[in-house]
Parts: sequence; C-alpha cells; structure tokens
Amino acid sequence: MSALERVDPVEFARLGNEVQGSVAAGSLERLSEVSRSPGALIRYQVRGYVRRDEKPAIELTVSGLLTVACQRCLGDVEVEIDSNRTLVFLPALGMDQVQDEEEDVDYLPREEAVVPLSLVEEEVLLAMPMAPRHAAGGCETPPAAAGEDGKPSPDLH
Ligand SMILES: [Zn+2]
Repeated sequence: MSALERVDPVEFARLGNEVQGSVAAGSLERLSEVSRSPGALIRYQVRGYVRRDEKPAIELTVSGLLTVACQRCLGDVEVEIDSNRTLVFLPALGMDQVQDEEEDVDYLPREEAVVPLSLVEEEVLLAMPMAPRHAAGGCETPPAAAGEDGKPSPDLH
C-alpha cells in the first residue's frame, strides 16, 4: 500500500498494517517551507498495532538529515531528525478518560481517515528543534546588512 493512501487508523491498527519507505523533504509541502535541502531523504516507518490495553495505535518512526536556517546567523545548519512516537486513537467520548500521559505517546480523537505520509510530515516537524542554530562559535559571519545598529552582536558564549 502507498503512504499517500487514506486509511482508517483503527482499521490500519487492527490489521497490523505497515508502510515504510523514504520521501524527499521537498515533496512535503509544510516541510519544504523550513528545509533548505529539498533532496534530503526522510526515512519513515508507519506501523499499526493493537496495544496490550486493546487501544488501536500507530507507531511512527522518522529519521533523516535536513539543512535548515540557523536562527543566529541564517547560514545553513544541519539538523538530525530521529524520532519515534506512538499515536493512540480513541473514540471522541473516550478522550476524557485519558489520565496519565505516557512518554512519546499522543492520544488523538479517532478520525475517519488519515494519510500516513501526513503523519510522517507532522512528526518530522515536531521533531525539528524550535530554534536550530550552530554550536557555539560555529556561526558564519553574519551578512553586512545584519548589523543595522553598527555594532556586531556579541557572541556571549
Ligand atoms: Zn549560525
């Protein structure tokens, strides 16, 4: 099956379906807005299963190396994506029964259909650092236009 196919997440889980492959960052619409490496491949695995508590779940695993803008110098910086998360789908009425938060597990109201590749894109976006930047001292010289007040911004590290 294709990762672009719309699937019922509960069916997907019950049948133990799985899709895996890789996709270019540039072909994912929202990701291509933040990534400077359209050809960079995101590897993914989307696996449906039923948990021991009988809840339908989808485990997402994504990894890849993306080039994004450093928030300090705006130069290219590589960020490594390596993430694993489980989505548990509940009927809307069951949402208030969720009490304890499990690590790396998200509870979602059951939807009629999800597109596995959209889940993959969402996970990559969540896994990106909020403010990607070079390690201390690793920034490129800022462009001349950056210092409008005439003073280079001191690097306090
Ligand atoms: Zn930088």
